Amino acid sequence: MTDAPARQIPAEGHAARPLRVLILMSRTGGGHIASARALEAEFHVQRPDARITIVDLLTDHVAFPFSRMPATYDSVVNHTPRLWHAMWRLTALAPVGRSSAAVVRRLSRTRIEALLRTSAPDLVISVHPLVNHLVLPVLERVAPRIPFVTVVTDLGGIHPLWLHPRNAAVYLPTERAVELAVARGLPRARLHAHGLPIRADFARAAAERGDSRRAFGLDPGLPVILVMGGGGGIGPMEAIVAATADALSAAAPGGPAAQIAVVCASNGALQARLAAANWPVPVTALGYVDRMSDLMEASDLLVTKAGPGTIAEASIRGLPMILYGFIPGQEGANVDHVVEAGAGLFEPRVAALAERAAQLVTADRDSLAVMAERARALGRARATQDIVASILADVLAR
Ligand code: UDP
Repeated sequence: MTDAPARQIPAEGHAARPLRVLILMSRTGGGHIASARALEAEFHVQRPDARITIVDLLTDHVAFPFSRMPATYDSVVNHTPRLWHAMWRLTALAPVGRSSAAVVRRLSRTRIEALLRTSAPDLVISVHPLVNHLVLPVLERVAPRIPFVTVVTDLGGIHPLWLHPRNAAVYLPTERAVELAVARGLPRARLHAHGLPIRADFARAAAERGDSRRAFGLDPGLPVILVMGGGGGIGPMEAIVAATADALSAAAPGGPAAQIAVVCASNGALQARLAAANWPVPVTALGYVDRMSDLMEASDLLVTKAGPGTIAEASIRGLPMILYGFIPGQEGANVDHVVEAGAGLFEPRVAALAERAAQLVTADRDSLAVMAERARALGRARATQDIVASILADVLAR
């Protein structure tokens, strides 16, 4: 790491002066904020003097109408996925991505400059691909010696906007992603593969299964199929729950052989509908869940869209997955990541998914156990610790 911008922090200096870290994210989905908070918590462990500021750059510091993008993201990817895919692919063409970012940057420069001046960071971390081309060129003018680091929060398909050449370091989820970044021209010495930054709960042992099931209002004695749709409760979750409940009831007519827990997250309307319905097996509709590590440990099978954070977390907990869909663009390659490893299946047809899910938790527990082991092998429980340790040693201490 020789040619990246660097700023010397005195080795003994942090007792006298706190380390100010600015983490830039945006609330497009739940993954970026989850990663930002995981990094914040780990900085507090490894550098107790660190002062972390987490900012939603797109919502709060870019010009209208681009500032509306996070608020409309869930609806766009849910209702017009082809439009989203077209935008993703277009901006993945380097000249289009760079020039689109340049337009937004020009319109937002004063606000971005103000953010950098008032927060006066010692280090800037991006956990969002759209941030880099908006902020790096402004940072280079305002404070050229402050290092800018990117922590990639995608598992498979790495959008080129993540890979700005002026990154002091880029933290990627896998060696395969590192190869991709090298092929796109980034110096290997600035690339690290530690996994996705996952909140600290996942690096510790989870609570005992029966206790967690009770705490979430679940039956402690019944296997759990956990249904998730990212931070926005995205996808045909209602149809999946209905079909899976029917399949479970048909698989064990004498009484429920398993139950369903649904994480509706911010989708309050979905939670209300699920809670009001009558089901042939127990169905528990949850809102936003903080103790995701315990809930995953308490579950036997996850049915989810191919969100990178959810997949990385489930892997750590050895939770096999059936992926019902993916956000076109950034999540397509996540499906390959899971299926090629044998940690799960891809099944977008609701009826077939429900049949397979019911089979796995009842008659085919051996296959479920094999998938669970393969999922566990993908898990990178120490990712957040390793990323923060590397930022402190390889970027700040240079
Ligand atoms: N999440 C959570 N509680 C919820 C719903 C989601 O903590 O009730 C977390 C989930 O554990 C994961 C993130 O939100 O860390 C979702 O990220 P992912 O990359 O899977 O999907 P996105 O929402 O970004 O599309």
